[in-house]
Amino acid sequence: MDTYQNISAGNPVLDGIKVNFGEYVARMRSRDDAHRINGIPDYAFAMDLKLREEIRKIPFFYSLSKKVAVHAEARYRQILTASSVLAGPNQFGDLYEMTQDCAKRLGIGSPNLYVLHDQSVNAFTYASDTVTPTIVVHSGMVERMTPGELKCVIGHECGHVHNEHQVYMSIYNLISGALSGAGSLMQLLSTSSVFLFLQWSRAAEVTCDRAAMICSDNIEDAVNVNKKLAYGSFINREEEVDIEDLRRQLDELSTTASVFTEIGSTHPASIRRVLASEAFAHCELLYRWRPELKKPGMVLHTKEETDAECEKYTAVFKQSEKR
Ligand SMILES: [Zn+2]
Repeated sequence: MDTYQNISAGNPVLDGIKVNFGEYVARMRSRDDAHRINGIPDYAFAMDLKLREEIRKIPFFYSLSKKVAVHAEARYRQILTASSVLAGPNQFGDLYEMTQDCAKRLGIGSPNLYVLHDQSVNAFTYASDTVTPTIVVHSGMVERMTPGELKCVIGHECGHVHNEHQVYMSIYNLISGALSGAGSLMQLLSTSSVFLFLQWSRAAEVTCDRAAMICSDNIEDAVNVNKKLAYGSFINREEEVDIEDLRRQLDELSTTASVFTEIGSTHPASIRRVLASEAFAHCELLYRWRPELKKPGMVLHTKEETDAECEKYTAVFKQSEKR
């Protein structure tokens, strides 16, 4: 018996289109396992996996958060249905198609995508074991990104679903009070556990920036999203961002008091994400997913080398050179 809530049920936008959770699970089970290692997508950032293992050792929170998240997310979906637009073939058809494309590329069921009236440049994903995943893209993001960049934003969010980040994200949302009524749970966690969640969240973003690149039509679009998030302009001036200058900027960032603001953040600084994305653009694994995007003469690195490079870029405190 299906006990899940299906946001598309009775919704004229998606009438006749199968997006229910049973369909979603069936597609998940039949997906191509060629790109999985022990059930985990092969492109996942090693630090993301390592920190997830640490989180699973925290007593009770995994099982507790799974139960509470189902109710909190169902409530959030009701609010979303009333205050945003669900993309479908007849409205925001381009975003709907991008979502279908990204989901197909990664081998997951297609999430629902909502455009939310909010001028901040943001996108996020809600999911649990019992509902079709939901991607929310702010109108500010839709207006600021090119179509190619928007596809990468959606690919990034599909990456959170593909990597089953939802359980860990739910835990973080619960302890931080982002899901209403749960703020006091923060007090049950030690400071070190809170920082562990934040460190994991930043590593998970690197994994999903890789998913964005795998889903992209043009690898540069995936790097450009992070460049645009760094300089914030409506105008496309990505070519003016110089990678070597960014490396120098990162050096400064990692050796000043700025790091103390970063350790409390769920996302890596955008310049770190640009450099980590650049590193994955030269990883041989990317071209196992997308051989048609490989350019002649490219010097490629192994997944392990790329992970080590990304760890260097995303570590808030500067690492010693011998790594
Ligand atoms: Zn993300």
